[in-house]
Amino acid sequence: MTTAKPIRVTVWNEFVHERTNPVVAAIYPDGIHQVLRTAIESHLADEAIVRCATLDEPEHGLTDSVLDSTEVLLWWGHAAHDQVEDAIVSKVHRRVLQGMGLIVLHSGHASKIFQRLMGTGCMLRWREAAEKERLWITAPGHPILAGISGDYIELPNAEMYGEHFDIPQPEELLLISWFEGGEVFRSGCTFRRGQGKIFYFRPGHETYPIYHHPQIQQIITNAVVWAQGSGGNYNWDARHIEQPLSPIQQK
Ligand code: ZN
Repeated sequence: MTTAKPIRVTVWNEFVHERTNPVVAAIYPDGIHQVLRTAIESHLADEAIVRCATLDEPEHGLTDSVLDSTEVLLWWGHAAHDQVEDAIVSKVHRRVLQGMGLIVLHSGHASKIFQRLMGTGCMLRWREAAEKERLWITAPGHPILAGISGDYIELPNAEMYGEHFDIPQPEELLLISWFEGGEVFRSGCTFRRGQGKIFYFRPGHETYPIYHHPQIQQIITNAVVWAQGSGGNYNWDARHIEQPLSPIQQK
């Protein structure tokens, strides 16, 4: 019997609102990243090694050694997208193409890394009115939705995100949100770029306790398992093949 190697996960958070807004600090006293870390650890136990990285750290906590040993990166940002250094974005981008999974959460839709990977503006409509949200399941049986029973997940208070959401056509659409005010939104979308799997997951506005919600935690954990590296050692450099496998004549 073999034991699978633990998935190496890094949770990145800009960690701004929790230190500047008392409402957010009351919900996430140690930061959104710590709640996500605990959720993944409690679901996966010794099947995952989870660490955190934040904007304030040198290289935003995403040094070469951290990135090289990360199989799945989670990204939460909102207020400080423009403070993320382009050089770090380029390194994360390269790692995704090489096979690192990336889970982009909520307002991460406007992050540099998501925009670069999508190639579109990634903007949307929004309203903050603590309205009800129903996330309707459109891909039952998908591994990211494992353990989620029923036809939808209901969040009593959410920020509205509405269409049009300026993303490329997702490879898979797992969840469509309905909001009390009438809008709809593609809330669970998968993409592939190079060898890397990407999951965009909408829930998670900082002034609501959404990352404490058990089903939201379940989906994020499932996404970590789904997104883990498929091509961690992929050599993406161009190679000139001088010696063909079978003899040929130069023409
Ligand atoms: Zn928000």
